[in-house]
Amino acid sequence: MRPEFAELQNHPDLSVLIVGGGINGIGCFNELALQGIDVLLVEKSDFCAGTSAAMTRVIHGGLRYLENAEFRLVRESLRERNRLIRNAPHYVKPLPTTIPIFNWTSGMVPAVRNLLRWPARPGDRGAVVIKIGLTLYDLLAGRRSPLPRHTFRSRREALALRPSLNPEIICTATYFDARITCPERLCLELVQDAEAACPHAHALNYVRLQSASGGGVTLRDELSGDTCTVRPRIVINAAGAWIDGVNRDIGRPSQFIGGTKGSHIVLDHPELVRATGDDMIYFVNRDGRICIFYAVQGKIVAGATDIPTTDPETSCDDSEVDYILHAMQQAFPAIRVNRSHVVFRFCGVRPLPRSNALTPGQISRDHSFPVLPPGNGIGFPIYSLVGGKWTTFRALAEQVTNQLLRVLGRPRLRSSAHLPIGGGKGYPRMPQGTGLSQARLLSLQERYGTGADRVAAYLVAGPDSPLASLPAYSCREIEFIARSERVLHLDDIILRRTLIGLLGEATRPVIEELASIVAPILHWPPQTAAAEVARTTHLLQSVHGMSFND
Ligand SMILES: Cc1cc2nc3c(=O)[nH]c(=O)nc-3n(C[C@H](O)[C@H](O)[C@H](O)COP(=O)(O)OP(=O)(O)OC[C@H]3O[C@@H](n4cnc5c(N)ncnc54)[C@H](O)[C@@H]3O)c2cc1C
Repeated sequence: MRPEFAELQNHPDLSVLIVGGGINGIGCFNELALQGIDVLLVEKSDFCAGTSAAMTRVIHGGLRYLENAEFRLVRESLRERNRLIRNAPHYVKPLPTTIPIFNWTSGMVPAVRNLLRWPARPGDRGAVVIKIGLTLYDLLAGRRSPLPRHTFRSRREALALRPSLNPEIICTATYFDARITCPERLCLELVQDAEAACPHAHALNYVRLQSASGGGVTLRDELSGDTCTVRPRIVINAAGAWIDGVNRDIGRPSQFIGGTKGSHIVLDHPELVRATGDDMIYFVNRDGRICIFYAVQGKIVAGATDIPTTDPETSCDDSEVDYILHAMQQAFPAIRVNRSHVVFRFCGVRPLPRSNALTPGQISRDHSFPVLPPGNGIGFPIYSLVGGKWTTFRALAEQVTNQLLRVLGRPRLRSSAHLPIGGGKGYPRMPQGTGLSQARLLSLQERYGTGADRVAAYLVAGPDSPLASLPAYSCREIEFIARSERVLHLDDIILRRTLIGLLGEATRPVIEELASIVAPILHWPPQTAAAEVARTTHLLQSVHGMSFND
């Protein structure tokens, strides 16, 4: 039995149980831990393995939400964007975003209808509408925004800069948001920070809420099958697209979620990487939906779709791939792009509120936390975290925590608003005196922020060598991750502790070499190591569209 389970069996009473280790559950966990609250988070999979890993990787104010006249949401998102740039500078970096514009005046009628809250289908947006939107966006970002204001380029200037852009443009506009390079790692850092801040805060990956009755909640260890029962005063249901399923399992059925699936693809296409340059391209597709694409470490990330679904475990299908490819082809008609360039796919379901909006894009991305009071034989209230965005996780967590502190009769001790996260503390300090090359130190800094100190110290404490199958990583670096980053399955490393999966670099030799390094550290006998290789390969094929015909 896991030691944490044994401990819970002896001490089952706790103030708050959080179900779901995506960004919203982890954000609440961190915020409650800062207030010294005894809190347990359980995640049925790995931390940040659900929708929180399927995001576009943009920390943004939500320019598009201005069309729905959601000014409060945009202001809050911009504030949180600016805070993340300051608190997590190792992962959250400015991202210039360029919009190709094809006419001057279109989109004005839908924009006015939206402002008046009359139903309207989104369509093409012309230069006038975009200019008004970007001016408002800069204003809402405030004078203390760390990012520059928007600019326009004439057709001639834009094509000189990006010769393969669609020549039918009349101009382009460029504004700034931020990219997040490693959302999965930032989640892990928030967990680690929380546990360091409060001895009564514990987060367990691969533990599922199974059922509940009376005041008890039964948890199941997904690795061993062990179960234990805890008695929380309050439950936060942060299960994202699974929220209604979890409430049903607790015995308090709800109908909060009306999810939409969103898929991305990753392409190996050097010509497109050159064409996009440092910018994210923000392209309005034929149906009025926005497709974005930008370069990440020599690959192109492109997406996303927005399709109603009731299945939280859905994956990216071929028609979505074609839809995204079509949008890219419209933006850069001279560059051939097809399915053979796609090296990875990913998909997630937005935990949006049920809605009868005309199109999925018009469903608000704002958050709420409806409360199910004790009842139906269940002795605790359930706060369900509905909607929201990655960008605004801290604001949501702060609001939920304020309410919970009132219920628990506990004071607020600290604010997270100006608190650096994980490897953002002291950034950009570099490890000193390690003897590692400057290039290696830079890559460690990019991967771990100031956490590179600990990684570098581990690397030089024993003989090390680059991976034979992927020399950008070394054997001891993978060892360090396996030892100290809550890894329980091989895919935790490939998909969430590193960018190996996202960048389409998880070939069979890489998977096998990683398994051989991790096995002795996690005490895997040969049959477990083989099962981990099979599990990872299957996951990459069935969920992420990779093929292993080599
Ligand atoms: C395609 C797409 C692109 C997006 N892009 C952006 C973007 O660029 N910027 C942005 O700000 N936002 C973006 N978002 C929105 C953002 O990703 C989500 O709002 C956010 O990640 C939701 O987080 P969550 O913690 O609520 O849900 P999740 O991350 O899904 O977490 C819920 C967790 O609950 C767990 N769980 C379920 N059942 C149980 C159980 N019984 N026991 C224990 N655990 C359980 C699941 O395994 C899951 O990990 C995007 C969303 C999508 C789909």
